[in-house]
Amino acid sequence: MLANKLKHSLRTVPNFPKNGISFKDITPILKEPELVKELISYMSQCVADSDAEAIMGIEARGFILAVPIAMKLSLPFIPARKPGKLPFTTVSESYKLEYGETSLEIHNDSFSSNTNVAIVDDLLATGGTAEAAGKLVEKLNGKIAGYFFAIELLELNGRETINSNSISSVLKI
Ligand code: AMP
Repeated sequence: MLANKLKHSLRTVPNFPKNGISFKDITPILKEPELVKELISYMSQCVADSDAEAIMGIEARGFILAVPIAMKLSLPFIPARKPGKLPFTTVSESYKLEYGETSLEIHNDSFSSNTNVAIVDDLLATGGTAEAAGKLVEKLNGKIAGYFFAIELLELNGRETINSNSISSVLKI
């Protein structure tokens, strides 16, 4: 089963990047091409079922999943980036992280009004990042097709923060 394979290959690094944070390191998963293919196929199907018209990936690990999903579904890829990285005019949304505070930006021509946008990231923790991504979609008058994650840390209650009826994760820890 896909979730078990992910669990088996996921590496937990204690106290990174700060004391008390139990970091879920996906790099061992990325070294297994067959597992990555299975993960991308599974997530692509979930995204396809949401009738998404564009895929927003969250920097940086979200890109690793969002780009192949967008390619598989032949849909546009939209990068949501950390502040100051995008060269054109941006819209921005600040948020709290499990470790610190930052903001996310997208170009203001990322998609046209009413586009159904799927939000993709590697991991759902407190939900602040994904919530900010959702607000960016709304700022440009898009619709949120759903939120799609490889991993979800259940005890951090990210689902309550995002407050959407379309949240999908493969491995729940
Ligand atoms: P959050 O906004 O709390 O849901 O955090 C989600 C974002 O931070 C994702 O982009 C994750 O890649 C990263 N992140 C947060 N907590 C962890 C963790 N414990 N292990 C790995 N990545 C994390």
